[in-house]
Amino acid sequence: MSDASSTHADVIIIGAGFAGLGMGVRLRRQAERTFLILERADDVGGTWRANTYPGVACDIPSQLYSFSFRQKADWSRVFASGSEIHGYLREVAASEGLLPSIRFGTSLQNARWDARQNLWHLTTSRGAFTARVLISAAGRLSEPRIAAIDGLETFEGPQFHTAEWRHDVDVSGKRVGVVGTGASAVQVVPQLVALGAEVVVFQRSAPYVIARLDRAFSEAERARFAEHPESLDARRAEYFAEAEQGFAQKLHDSNAARSHRARALAHLEAQVDDPVLRRQLTPDYEIGCKRVLISSDYYPAMASTQVTLETSPLVSVEGRVATAGSGASFELDVLVLATGFEATELAFARLVHGLGGQTLAEHWAGGMTAFASTAVHGFPNLFIIDGPLASLGHNSSIVMIETQIDYILGALADARETLEVSADAEQSYTAELDRTSAETVWLRGGCSSWYLDARSGRQTLLWPGTAASFRAQNGHFDPAPYRTVSRAELTSTLSA
Ligand SMILES: Cc1cc2nc3c(=O)[nH]c(=O)nc-3n(C[C@H](O)[C@H](O)[C@H](O)COP(=O)(O)OP(=O)(O)OC[C@H]3O[C@@H](n4cnc5c(N)ncnc54)[C@H](O)[C@@H]3O)c2cc1C
Repeated sequence: MSDASSTHADVIIIGAGFAGLGMGVRLRRQAERTFLILERADDVGGTWRANTYPGVACDIPSQLYSFSFRQKADWSRVFASGSEIHGYLREVAASEGLLPSIRFGTSLQNARWDARQNLWHLTTSRGAFTARVLISAAGRLSEPRIAAIDGLETFEGPQFHTAEWRHDVDVSGKRVGVVGTGASAVQVVPQLVALGAEVVVFQRSAPYVIARLDRAFSEAERARFAEHPESLDARRAEYFAEAEQGFAQKLHDSNAARSHRARALAHLEAQVDDPVLRRQLTPDYEIGCKRVLISSDYYPAMASTQVTLETSPLVSVEGRVATAGSGASFELDVLVLATGFEATELAFARLVHGLGGQTLAEHWAGGMTAFASTAVHGFPNLFIIDGPLASLGHNSSIVMIETQIDYILGALADARETLEVSADAEQSYTAELDRTSAETVWLRGGCSSWYLDARSGRQTLLWPGTAASFRAQNGHFDPAPYRTVSRAELTSTLSA
């Protein structure tokens, strides 16, 4: 651990969400290397600090959507609320002794690899730092995406993204436009209805929605989890195995996909009586092509008299009037942008300069790539968690993050001072994953989704396999594809 004033550490981690905190906990428990975590916000939590909209919650059961090495016995329900998850992460950071290693309000502005010194030089909003190893845990859903809507800035009422919720805006009795029908919209729309708003939902394409089998854990269950921690492991393993079965649905035109589709459409039919509305809410692409959403109150909210469904996107705004692609206009008091995140072009990539000064964004001009979904050629001693091809549509992100942490700890244990993955290794890993992705519903399911890089059409976000296969392939560090530059070699090269 570095002390409060240090500006150098063996390892600097950017971001204090699940990935940065998990990496920090494991490094601190090992106590072998100094490390710092730089976080631009004033608190830990990442996703769960930023997203505070009404209804925000995880859609993976809590025992699985948490660290395996730091389990919590008293989750209040199967799908914890955002604030409960945030509380968990705060508690982890405090009780694991991470807080002295976190520099809050410190935004990375520039990182430059110095090949002479074998060091990363960082410029931040709070001064300069150096590190031997740089780890990006800056998130893939941390930069709100604001769709290009003509005249958006002219809107006369409050407008905000779901990740920047304005709690000072009272929506009761107001006419609220919600742009988008993704995971956040599906959670927020029923809450807006419950708060007494009149809601207009702008839908570009209908999502598939399945029932949310949520419930509170009883006192007795929580007591049992606390008394028998092994029962938490067992519950986690059950949830994991169940979620893993969901990958079969991602293979194009599989039997599993067909039965999953039948389940989603039965849920729609059970909850929406009006045949016209039901047709409007029926997706026109294969299930799984976009994220399948889970909710038991979205359809009832959509069927309520408080909601108007507009089946075309919002295209322009003038004063209080919002006009959809169909030409229909709506007078609105509040505009909520449930438009997702800049997931395929990460802001972090524009800040990081590797060998020869090239930025990661330039290296990724055709879409994100990384060997083992973690290391990039031309960027020595840089490791990226939760970046290219490292997330899932069917299981917990935390399982993937933990696999990447194990991989990075393996790399840090390598005796060599500097590691750079070969171009061949990165290219063949990417080509293999591109081939596997081509057989999935993400590329063959007839939709356009945020999983695809708009520049190349490549699927650059999701690991095209199970979480177990990700661990089998990437859970252990193999030094073979890495070029190494030892300090002795470097010194002799420089003095020659
Ligand atoms: C509303 C919502 C619900 C979700 N639900 C689920 C779910 O149910 N299951 C699931 O598996 N996944 C879910 N996810 C995905 C979720 O993002 C991941 O599960 C996980 O929280 C990502 O953690 P992270 O640490 O990688 O990134 P983040 O939580 O995004 O943390 C990144 C951190 O980096 C900081 N940062 C970024 N840039 C800089 C910089 N330049 N300088 C300093 N700090 C910086 C940010 O401020 C942030 O604190 C959800 C996402 C959202 C938005």
